[in-house]
Amino acid sequence: MNRAEEDYIKTIFELTIEKKQSLLKTNELSERFGFSDQSVNEMIKKLEKKHLVSFIPYKGISLTPKGKQVAIRMVRAHRIWEVFLTEKLGVPWESVHVDAEMLEHATSPEVLEKLYRYLGEPKYCQHGNPIPNLKGQMNSISALSLDQLQEGDRFQITRVMDFRELLVYLNEHQIKLKDEYDIISKDRFNGLMTLSKEGQMLTISLKTAKMIFGHKLPRL
Ligand SMILES: [Zn+2]
Repeated sequence: MNRAEEDYIKTIFELTIEKKQSLLKTNELSERFGFSDQSVNEMIKKLEKKHLVSFIPYKGISLTPKGKQVAIRMVRAHRIWEVFLTEKLGVPWESVHVDAEMLEHATSPEVLEKLYRYLGEPKYCQHGNPIPNLKGQMNSISALSLDQLQEGDRFQITRVMDFRELLVYLNEHQIKLKDEYDIISKDRFNGLMTLSKEGQMLTISLKTAKMIFGHKLPRL
Protein backbone atom coordinates (compact mmCIF):
# COMPACT_ATOMS: atom_id res chain seq x y z
CA MET A 1 0.00 0.00 0.00
CA ASN A 2 1.40 3.40 -0.88
CA ARG A 3 1.17 6.66 0.99
CA ALA A 4 -1.60 8.16 -1.17
CA GLU A 5 -3.77 5.09 -0.61
CA GLU A 6 -3.20 5.19 3.13
CA ASP A 7 -4.08 8.89 3.19
CA TYR A 8 -7.35 8.23 1.35
CA ILE A 9 -8.33 5.52 3.80
CA LYS A 10 -7.54 7.75 6.76
CA THR A 11 -9.46 10.69 5.32
CA ILE A 12 -12.53 8.55 4.60
CA PHE A 13 -12.41 7.36 8.21
CA GLU A 14 -12.05 10.88 9.65
CA LEU A 15 -14.71 12.44 7.41
CA THR A 16 -17.20 9.69 8.27
CA ILE A 17 -16.77 10.52 11.96
CA GLU A 18 -16.73 14.27 11.42
CA LYS A 19 -19.89 14.29 9.31
CA LYS A 20 -21.59 11.54 11.35
CA GLN A 21 -22.45 9.72 8.11
CA SER A 22 -21.96 6.05 7.31
CA LEU A 23 -21.50 6.79 3.60
CA LEU A 24 -19.50 9.55 1.93
CA LYS A 25 -20.10 11.07 -1.47
CA THR A 26 -17.28 11.39 -3.99
CA ASN A 27 -17.56 15.17 -3.98
CA GLU A 28 -17.15 15.29 -0.19
CA LEU A 29 -13.79 13.59 -0.66
CA SER A 30 -12.72 15.73 -3.60
CA GLU A 31 -13.60 18.85 -1.61
CA ARG A 32 -11.46 17.74 1.30
CA PHE A 33 -8.47 16.81 -0.86
CA GLY A 34 -8.85 19.54 -3.45
CA PHE A 35 -8.69 16.87 -6.20
CA SER A 36 -11.07 16.42 -9.12
CA ASP A 37 -14.02 14.01 -8.81
CA GLN A 38 -12.43 11.97 -11.56
CA SER A 39 -9.16 11.36 -9.73
CA VAL A 40 -11.08 10.52 -6.56
CA ASN A 41 -13.14 7.99 -8.52
CA GLU A 42 -10.02 6.37 -9.91
CA MET A 43 -8.52 5.98 -6.46
CA ILE A 44 -11.78 4.58 -5.06
CA LYS A 45 -11.77 1.95 -7.82
CA LYS A 46 -8.23 0.96 -6.87
CA LEU A 47 -9.11 0.72 -3.19
CA GLU A 48 -12.23 -1.28 -4.01
CA LYS A 49 -10.10 -3.84 -5.85
CA LYS A 50 -7.97 -4.18 -2.74
CA HIS A 51 -11.13 -4.72 -0.64
CA LEU A 52 -10.44 -1.61 1.43
CA VAL A 53 -13.56 0.39 0.52
CA SER A 54 -16.97 -0.46 -0.77
CA PHE A 55 -18.78 1.82 -3.18
CA ILE A 56 -22.53 1.70 -3.69
CA PRO A 57 -23.49 3.65 -6.82
CA TYR A 58 -25.62 6.74 -6.04
CA LYS A 59 -25.26 6.05 -2.31
CA GLY A 60 -21.61 6.48 -1.43
CA ILE A 61 -18.32 5.18 -0.13
CA SER A 62 -17.54 3.38 3.10
CA LEU A 63 -14.58 1.47 4.52
CA THR A 64 -14.62 -2.33 4.66
CA PRO A 65 -13.52 -3.92 7.98
CA LYS A 66 -10.07 -4.33 6.41
CA GLY A 67 -10.03 -0.66 5.38
CA LYS A 68 -11.12 0.39 8.84
CA GLN A 69 -8.19 -1.51 10.34
CA VAL A 70 -5.78 0.38 8.12
CA ALA A 71 -7.44 3.69 9.02
CA ILE A 72 -7.21 3.04 12.74
CA ARG A 73 -3.54 2.12 12.37
CA MET A 74 -2.81 5.40 10.53
CA VAL A 75 -4.83 7.58 12.90
CA ARG A 76 -3.18 5.93 15.85
CA ALA A 77 0.34 6.44 14.50
CA HIS A 78 -0.41 10.05 13.58
CA ARG A 79 -1.75 10.98 17.00
CA ILE A 80 0.92 9.09 18.95
CA TRP A 81 3.63 10.90 17.00
CA GLU A 82 1.90 14.21 17.69
CA VAL A 83 2.01 13.54 21.42
CA PHE A 84 5.71 12.68 21.17
CA LEU A 85 6.57 15.74 19.09
CA THR A 86 4.69 18.20 21.30
CA GLU A 87 5.35 16.69 24.73
CA LYS A 88 8.88 15.40 24.37
CA LEU A 89 10.37 17.65 21.71
CA GLY A 90 8.42 20.83 22.44
CA VAL A 91 7.15 21.27 18.88
CA PRO A 92 4.16 23.67 19.04
CA TRP A 93 0.74 22.16 18.32
CA GLU A 94 0.31 24.15 15.09
CA SER A 95 3.51 22.66 13.64
CA VAL A 96 3.27 18.93 14.37
CA HIS A 97 0.86 17.95 11.63
CA VAL A 98 3.30 17.83 8.70
CA ASP A 99 5.86 15.69 10.51
CA ALA A 100 3.19 13.39 11.94
CA GLU A 101 1.86 12.95 8.37
CA MET A 102 5.25 11.66 7.25
CA LEU A 103 6.04 9.59 10.33
CA GLU A 104 2.67 7.80 10.39
CA HIS A 105 3.58 6.07 7.11
CA ALA A 106 7.10 5.19 8.15
CA THR A 107 6.63 3.57 11.55
CA SER A 108 6.68 -0.18 12.13
CA PRO A 109 4.04 -1.60 14.51
CA GLU A 110 6.82 -2.60 16.95
CA VAL A 111 8.27 0.90 17.22
CA LEU A 112 4.80 2.41 17.50
CA GLU A 113 3.95 0.12 20.45
CA LYS A 114 7.19 1.07 22.18
CA LEU A 115 6.52 4.76 21.60
CA TYR A 116 2.94 4.42 22.87
CA ARG A 117 4.11 2.77 26.10
CA TYR A 118 6.95 5.25 26.50
CA LEU A 119 4.40 8.08 26.38
CA GLY A 120 2.24 6.42 29.04
CA GLU A 121 -0.51 5.19 26.69
CA PRO A 122 -2.06 8.63 26.06
CA LYS A 123 -5.79 8.77 25.31
CA TYR A 124 -5.78 12.03 23.30
CA CYS A 125 -3.46 14.02 21.05
CA GLN A 126 -2.78 17.71 21.74
CA HIS A 127 -5.71 18.71 19.54
CA GLY A 128 -8.10 16.55 21.58
CA ASN A 129 -8.48 13.73 19.05
CA PRO A 130 -8.85 10.32 20.72
CA ILE A 131 -6.02 7.79 20.28
CA PRO A 132 -7.11 4.19 19.65
CA ASN A 133 -5.67 1.74 22.21
CA LEU A 134 -3.87 -1.53 21.35
CA LYS A 135 -7.21 -3.19 20.59
CA GLY A 136 -8.22 -0.34 18.28
CA GLN A 137 -10.82 1.03 20.70
CA MET A 138 -10.96 4.74 21.42
CA ASN A 139 -13.02 7.27 23.32
CA SER A 140 -15.74 8.98 21.33
CA ILE A 141 -14.83 12.20 19.59
CA SER A 142 -16.27 15.50 20.87
CA ALA A 143 -18.76 16.54 18.22
CA LEU A 144 -20.57 19.50 19.80
CA SER A 145 -19.16 22.63 18.22
CA LEU A 146 -19.07 25.99 19.95
CA ASP A 147 -21.30 27.65 17.32
CA GLN A 148 -24.21 25.39 18.34
CA LEU A 149 -24.42 26.95 21.80
CA GLN A 150 -26.74 29.71 22.91
CA GLU A 151 -26.44 32.80 25.05
CA GLY A 152 -26.09 31.82 28.71
CA ASP A 153 -24.56 28.40 27.99
CA ARG A 154 -21.25 27.35 29.54
CA PHE A 155 -18.75 25.35 27.56
CA GLN A 156 -15.47 23.51 28.01
CA ILE A 157 -13.14 23.05 25.03
CA THR A 158 -11.99 19.45 24.54
CA ARG A 159 -11.03 19.38 20.85
CA VAL A 160 -9.99 21.76 18.08
CA MET A 161 -9.50 21.11 14.39
CA ASP A 162 -5.93 20.42 13.37
CA PHE A 163 -5.62 23.38 10.95
CA ARG A 164 -2.48 25.43 11.21
CA GLU A 165 -4.18 28.83 10.68
CA LEU A 166 -6.78 28.05 13.32
CA LEU A 167 -4.17 26.92 15.84
CA VAL A 168 -2.07 30.05 15.29
CA TYR A 169 -5.21 32.15 15.84
CA LEU A 170 -6.02 30.25 19.03
CA ASN A 171 -2.45 30.84 20.29
CA GLU A 172 -2.79 34.56 19.63
CA HIS A 173 -5.98 34.69 21.67
CA GLN A 174 -4.76 32.25 24.34
CA ILE A 175 -7.54 29.78 23.66
CA LYS A 176 -6.60 26.25 24.81
CA LEU A 177 -8.09 22.86 25.50
CA LYS A 178 -9.80 22.59 28.91
CA ASP A 179 -10.64 26.32 28.88
CA GLU A 180 -14.13 27.13 30.13
CA TYR A 181 -16.23 29.85 28.53
CA ASP A 182 -19.58 31.53 29.12
CA ILE A 183 -21.48 32.43 25.98
CA ILE A 184 -22.33 36.11 26.41
CA SER A 185 -24.02 36.73 23.07
CA LYS A 186 -24.49 35.25 19.65
CA ASP A 187 -24.97 37.57 16.68
CA ARG A 188 -26.07 35.38 13.78
CA PHE A 189 -26.49 38.28 11.39
CA ASN A 190 -22.85 39.35 11.65
CA GLY A 191 -21.66 35.83 12.35
CA LEU A 192 -20.07 36.68 15.70
CA MET A 193 -20.03 35.17 19.14
CA THR A 194 -18.90 36.88 22.32
CA LEU A 195 -17.45 34.69 25.04
CA SER A 196 -16.06 35.28 28.47
CA LYS A 197 -13.33 33.42 30.35
CA GLU A 198 -12.94 34.49 33.96
CA GLY A 199 -14.30 37.92 33.14
CA GLN A 200 -12.18 38.40 30.02
CA MET A 201 -14.27 39.06 26.94
CA LEU A 202 -13.47 37.67 23.55
CA THR A 203 -15.33 37.93 20.23
CA ILE A 204 -14.82 35.23 17.63
CA SER A 205 -16.46 34.46 14.29
CA LEU A 206 -18.99 31.64 13.96
CA LYS A 207 -16.63 30.18 11.35
CA THR A 208 -13.96 29.80 14.04
CA ALA A 209 -16.55 28.55 16.54
CA LYS A 210 -17.41 25.72 14.13
CA MET A 211 -13.85 24.38 14.46
CA ILE A 212 -13.87 24.28 18.27
CA PHE A 213 -15.54 21.37 20.08
CA GLY A 214 -16.35 20.37 23.61
CA HIS A 215 -19.17 19.81 26.03
CA LYS A 216 -21.69 21.93 27.84
CA LEU A 217 -21.12 22.61 31.52
CA PRO A 218 -23.93 23.13 34.04
CA ARG A 219 -24.93 26.80 34.19
CA LEU A 220 -23.74 28.69 37.24
ZN1 LIG B 1 -3.82 15.97 16.58
